[in-house]
Amino acid sequence: MSALVRIPTPLRPLCGGQDEVTVDGATVREALDDLERRHAGFKARLLDGQGGVRRFVNLFVNQDDVRHLQGLDTPLKAGDALSIVPAVAGGAPGADAAVTFSQLHQELKARVPETTARDLARARPQVLLDVRELEEVKGGKIPGAVHIPRGFLELRVEDEVPDRDAEVVVYCAGGTRSLFAADTLRRMGYQRVASLQGGFRAWAEAGQPVERPRLLTDAERRRYSRHLMIPEVGEAGQVKLLQAKVLLIGAGGLGCPAALYLAAAGVGTLGVVDFDVVDESNLQRQVLHPTDRVGTSKVESARRTLLAQNPGITVVPHEERITSENVERLLGAYDLVIDGSDNFATRYLINDACVLQRKACVHGSIYRFEGQVTVFDPARGGPCYRCLYPEPPPPELAPSCADAGVLGVLPGVVGVLEAVEAIKLILGEGEPLTGRLLTYDALGARFRELKLRRDPGCAYCASLDGAPFPGFVDYEVFCASAGGDT
Ligand SMILES: [Zn+2]
Repeated sequence: MSALVRIPTPLRPLCGGQDEVTVDGATVREALDDLERRHAGFKARLLDGQGGVRRFVNLFVNQDDVRHLQGLDTPLKAGDALSIVPAVAGGAPGADAAVTFSQLHQELKARVPETTARDLARARPQVLLDVRELEEVKGGKIPGAVHIPRGFLELRVEDEVPDRDAEVVVYCAGGTRSLFAADTLRRMGYQRVASLQGGFRAWAEAGQPVERPRLLTDAERRRYSRHLMIPEVGEAGQVKLLQAKVLLIGAGGLGCPAALYLAAAGVGTLGVVDFDVVDESNLQRQVLHPTDRVGTSKVESARRTLLAQNPGITVVPHEERITSENVERLLGAYDLVIDGSDNFATRYLINDACVLQRKACVHGSIYRFEGQVTVFDPARGGPCYRCLYPEPPPPELAPSCADAGVLGVLPGVVGVLEAVEAIKLILGEGEPLTGRLLTYDALGARFRELKLRRDPGCAYCASLDGAPFPGFVDYEVFCASAGGDT
């Protein structure tokens, strides 16, 4: 019985380039035997070691796949056409077979190094990577782990783990997905990657510590989506912002724009200290206070505007004058301070308290068309305010805004720069203005940068190195005058 075998292009070299060969045989198997006799090499390519059809080859008798007929025993009638249809890869040479999940899993088990929960507890790797889905992480994660869901691994890992020589342990819930993730990382050039055997389950069952992370709600995720796209912020950074507590000294020209942007950015707790009421002459620059609040308390006005901007944060109004008596209590609940005060007595007081509590103080000041911004953070390097100005200037050389005037938009620029510095400090990203004074000349449209150094004779900074804290002084007397308002 003769049948026609249709030869696919990749196999035509075996039969002198013919696209059809006529063979004899009563079944598919006999036809292939005859084909092999005429043109050696076909069977090795079409059949596996057990004589079955290889998984990447399909054989059709006329229109039907032999797998759905009788396989190799499918009978052939005269004139039947047997078509050989290999999978056309267009892919990697030598990738000659599709593999099942279990084959792939076995391969990875052999290839990817694994570690146990016990070993992980003993020696923490540089990077611990959680590749589970967000819903799973909500139930708890290994403390300190970086979370990148498996689906985003390739996209995000270079931002989260720039060092390809870093020691990385990947985990998922049970230890399977992490094998795939670890294998991918190895292909991306990460040299020292292992997968946690048994995953998070094994870790938790071994009684190791588990933390329930603060995660963004869906509403927060929508609200801060533009932050989440930035690698320097991301979900972890946004959580840091939401958990941060910033104290603003003054709800005036500098405090208003700084607070507005910190609120919008999602800084979770904003304390505002001011004892003043809104005056008509404030409205030209103090953008938290609308006209109809003239005569009302500044901290209350600030609270209302900030919560209208972002109801998801907490605003704590402190309607009091900051003094040596209350400064430690006021600062105590906060992580960092934004100084938008309007007089030297307050600036020295805040400085001294920040040094004592080892807190960073973001400093801004304005005069007509000129502004200055810096970060005083002597506990982490750089000078304090007293290193810069051991003594206040006499009042005639330092007029307040009330006496000298100020361009309304200038505190906007300077206050927003203060907000930027605060956010960088909270995130731990970028280069803070520690030890650098940034000056802004609005008329000339110029920014300049000056280097600031610690004064070796500064008694307050010396207290950070073990010398006794000099204490709070009588700041009014020290400064011999209090200024007006910003
Ligand atoms: Zn100092």
